Amino acid sequence: MSDPVRSIVRRFAGVPTLEGAGVRLRRSFSNNEVPLFDPFLLLDRFGSSNPEDYLAGFPWHPHRGIETVTYVLNGEVAHGDTLGNSGVIGSGDVQWMNSGSGIIHQEMPHRTEGTMSGFQLWVNLPAREKMSVPAYRGLTAAEIPEVTTDAGSRVKVVAGRFGTAEGPVRGIPVDPTYLDVTVPPGGSFELPTHAGFTVFAHTVEGTGRFEGTDSRPVDAGETVLFGPGGSVRAQAAETALRFLLVSGRPLHEPVAWYGPIVMNRQDELVQAMRELRAGDFVKHRRPTLEE
Ligand code: FE
Repeated sequence: MSDPVRSIVRRFAGVPTLEGAGVRLRRSFSNNEVPLFDPFLLLDRFGSSNPEDYLAGFPWHPHRGIETVTYVLNGEVAHGDTLGNSGVIGSGDVQWMNSGSGIIHQEMPHRTEGTMSGFQLWVNLPAREKMSVPAYRGLTAAEIPEVTTDAGSRVKVVAGRFGTAEGPVRGIPVDPTYLDVTVPPGGSFELPTHAGFTVFAHTVEGTGRFEGTDSRPVDAGETVLFGPGGSVRAQAAETALRFLLVSGRPLHEPVAWYGPIVMNRQDELVQAMRELRAGDFVKHRRPTLEE
């Protein structure tokens, strides 16, 4: 007998939030939801056709103890960091950045014709990895495999496996799967998941439903958390249903969180603040970089 389907247990409409130097975005979940989404900490969706909503961007700021995953759907985000990386994240590109012991970076959206949109997901690091050497992965849209199922769904695989495809982001401690799924009108889609992993979906556009005890329709912009079980099954309504489907192994470790720094204990936050003030927060950097 196969495992029961995973059913939606919580729904999050997203809260309008002002972040960075004044970017209007929608926050799906954050520190109020700990530990519901463990090992995931935060999901922000930015999307606006008004440049005033995003041009202020996210000027130089620190991170420690987490991975930040930026997925640009449409538009461009310029970035730079204390590892010496800099460039532009374009439409369909992903930046998977492991802050480890500390990084200072900036993320500045460019003025975009039409709608500038994308996501930022924060993935927690296990205690043993929080002070590790920072690592940066920049992936272009062309490097992200796209699979078409027999039933006609298109699946971009950023991390984890789907069918014969494996996402280019590998070696992440919590073994994440990160898919961008488009189910055609009236179509259906199924993803087997690891037992014991946390699984959630965020509806990018369209409407449809997920099978289970709560199979009420999901709307664009909604984030849904699944309970235990085997597969996730989605059905599109009369329009195509596009959603992010994310899973990972929970850490079950204490979370101490202050802004862009997420550790396990309060004293580690105090130490991070002290190091920021003293100017020795960043442990690994390119010596030539000028901030
Ligand atoms: Fe950041």
